[in-house]
Amino acid sequence: MVKKENDALIEKMKKGEEVVWINPARIPFSEVGERLELGKEDIRDASERWKRFAPFLRKAFPETEPAEGIIESPLVEINHMKELLNREYAGGLKGRLFLKEDSHLAVAGSVKARGGIYEVLKHTEALALQNGILKENESYEKLAYENSRAFFGNYTIQVGSTGNLGLSIGIISAVIGYHVVVHMSADARQWKKDLLRSYGVDVREYEGDYGEAVKCGRALSDQDETSYFVDDENSRDLFLGYAVAGERLQKQLEERNLTVDDAHPLFVYLPCGVGGAPGGITFGLKQIFGDHVHCFFAEPVQAPCMLLGMATGLHQDIAVEDIGLSGNTSADGLAVGRPSGFVGRIMEPILSGEFTVCDDRLSDYMKALYQTEDVFIEPSACAAFQGPACLGRSEEFREYMEKNHLRDKMEHAVHIVWATGGSLVPEEVVKEYLGIE
Ligand SMILES: *Cc1c(COP(=O)(O)O)cnc(C)c1O
Repeated sequence: MVKKENDALIEKMKKGEEVVWINPARIPFSEVGERLELGKEDIRDASERWKRFAPFLRKAFPETEPAEGIIESPLVEINHMKELLNREYAGGLKGRLFLKEDSHLAVAGSVKARGGIYEVLKHTEALALQNGILKENESYEKLAYENSRAFFGNYTIQVGSTGNLGLSIGIISAVIGYHVVVHMSADARQWKKDLLRSYGVDVREYEGDYGEAVKCGRALSDQDETSYFVDDENSRDLFLGYAVAGERLQKQLEERNLTVDDAHPLFVYLPCGVGGAPGGITFGLKQIFGDHVHCFFAEPVQAPCMLLGMATGLHQDIAVEDIGLSGNTSADGLAVGRPSGFVGRIMEPILSGEFTVCDDRLSDYMKALYQTEDVFIEPSACAAFQGPACLGRSEEFREYMEKNHLRDKMEHAVHIVWATGGSLVPEEVVKEYLGIE
């Protein structure tokens, strides 16, 4: 039965059609317990580390001064966009719709400011403590001083990226003082390479896709003892950096008197590439809200790697090319052919489902958001609107609501579209995207 259903799903995916998938392996959160290799303690540790670094971030990035060195994004209600979606897509969305503007996160202008920066900070802390650059209980502000920078110049950070991870790792590492090498896939936009080079980052370009850039970067890094490679596919640190978003969002919801409980479900829609960012955020949210939060990923129809990995159970052992898809998409941040197996396995018992979306629609959502709310987010980030746009039209979702007794609670639901990037996009590129002079 399940197998047959899967066959129909894969057939549609092969044709490049949009699909809605409900995860059949999800179980009540109270039963997940020990099944996951990471837990609440790990998130607390990450959260404490972010706090220790706040004095440094404040000093090194003056734009974080108002928030006292905490890198966090606004949560804004987008009622005009909700009306447009209901009018033009017949989504029948009930409840309130919000945008989580990671597109406007300090330093990196994308969700990668969570995971990418966190991993570099963790590595930096370890090096600094081991080498007496920092002593226990000393303020981390010291890391912004010239003698610390000179020390980190002896070390290299490398990463493979479709763009935004490279930007976040490149910028934070260069500011700390590291020698940085970013290995960019063919999908990466020119302006991202230019911006990195302006920070003195060594940007290497590859003809192939993301997988190839990662492979070359890792091989080079492994030859050098003083080099550290950020591994987007398997990194627990990246994942935990993202997961801290859960407690941050909880605080924002409380501040606005937005309740999340059995009668007030929370729906979160997250664009997915290799899986680390949406996976980490989902993990963080589930630890706090359990069964009251429903997390859905969104992927481009030509690069639905996480959906393919989860639906087949093959995870990193299957790639979108294996079912004849190209992997090409205007959502450069989501142009990933093979998912993280580490993330997929953690998502198995907790993810609610997935939506896939055509490139044309990404552009429509982008323009609609700009027109209704005067907010620009990049194409990848727009994938998340597929959830609220087609919720009400989807048979699969109707079943999900029945099964989870959600039908009469939707009036009181909060929906959050996770806007994963956009504020660093140069003005001329924004205009090109929006089709304006
Ligand atoms: C990286 C990225 C994502 C997805 O994150 P993954 O960890 O690759 O799944 C989504 N949107 C934007 C803009 C990104 O840069």
